[in-house]
Amino acid sequence: MQFSSALGPFKGGIRFHPSVNVGIVKFLAFQQVFKNALTGMPIGGGKGGSDFDPKGRSDGEIMRFCQSFMTELWRHVGEYTDVPAGDIGVGQREIGYMFGQFKRLTNRYEAGVLTGKGLSYGGSLARSEATGYGAVYFAQRMLEKNGQSLEGMRVSVSGTGNVALHAMRKAAELGATITACSDSSGYIADPEGIDLELIWNIKEIRRERVISYAQEKGSQAKFVPKGTGSIWDVPCDCALPCATQNELDRQNAMSLAANGVLAVVEGANMPCTPQAVDVFKQAGILFAPGKAANAGGVATSALEMQQNASRDTWSFEKTNQRLEAIMIDIHDQCYNLSKEYDDPGNYALGANVGGFVRVAEAMQALGVV
Ligand code: NDP
Repeated sequence: MQFSSALGPFKGGIRFHPSVNVGIVKFLAFQQVFKNALTGMPIGGGKGGSDFDPKGRSDGEIMRFCQSFMTELWRHVGEYTDVPAGDIGVGQREIGYMFGQFKRLTNRYEAGVLTGKGLSYGGSLARSEATGYGAVYFAQRMLEKNGQSLEGMRVSVSGTGNVALHAMRKAAELGATITACSDSSGYIADPEGIDLELIWNIKEIRRERVISYAQEKGSQAKFVPKGTGSIWDVPCDCALPCATQNELDRQNAMSLAANGVLAVVEGANMPCTPQAVDVFKQAGILFAPGKAANAGGVATSALEMQQNASRDTWSFEKTNQRLEAIMIDIHDQCYNLSKEYDDPGNYALGANVGGFVRVAEAMQALGVV
């Protein structure tokens, strides 16, 4: 779905998940336009995907699917036209297979055609961390504006994929205790704080379900299967939904509010339903929409494109510092615009206005088509 190239080449992630359909890809691409505009980088908005289910597939099957996917996609993408990245079900491994097939078909080493690449062939340090770290930088800045900090807070993070695992790590680094996390089979809660080394090992290395955590950790850690409870029933000070769209509904929002949550920051794309967002607003809970809070991933993808274009490689520290500065800038843009439009602290309003104005100005400047 190539939605807008007013600001730069179409840019957004490719998703492999059985739930993918055209409607989902369209809404994600639409949101991506404004998110990318908020980063201040020269990137348009797009999104892609397939209802292919990678679960349970062998490495060879994944490779062959990625190659087939690129056998059609290659004619639509390129450094100056459309630069896809990863999303749910598409990580560095899948990007590598797609990049290899693009190179094979075009006979070109066009590093800037895909982002999220491996470090050995044009990837950027800090790209894997960027979305999760970025969401936490945003959360910290938002809390600071309110005289608070993540230090000492209990944080619940849904999902245990790329965004969630890195968000947990950064929040813990800033002094938070991760009280709960999940995958599509259910959630785990650990009052002692989730052992990050153990959960990384289970999800990233062994690729098992979260129930293994409760089985191995023992003590008070518990697993609650999907359908018998929600991660949002676990009391926390800050909630980071980092799994998928519409995973946090009105009921969940009321439960979070009743337990005294102070801030909800979307690491995923539109995980909170509009009704849930209304509850947060009425209860005076700080709320950061994904198009602002999870923009760190695509912003770092743009930094990867910069490195590819200049045939350069930046250090982790340099890229991470740029990421943090971008997230603070996005936060401040949203906050200042919410004040200018008479609803201070309404980050959703600030993000929508900020993203829209930049795209609209560029479209007008480029002339009517
Ligand atoms: P991953 O595939 O790495 O992880 C997704 C996680 O969410 C997994 O733990 C998965 O569990 C869980 N999950 C998926 N569907 C459901 C469901 N229906 N119910 C409960 N849990 C579910 O994806 P990412 O971490 O990359 O992406 C997560 C979200 O962040 C998406 O909304 C994505 O669009 C958004 N995002 C990602 C960016 C990135 O840089 N990766 C950038 C910006 C936004 P299981 O393993 O059981 O399927």
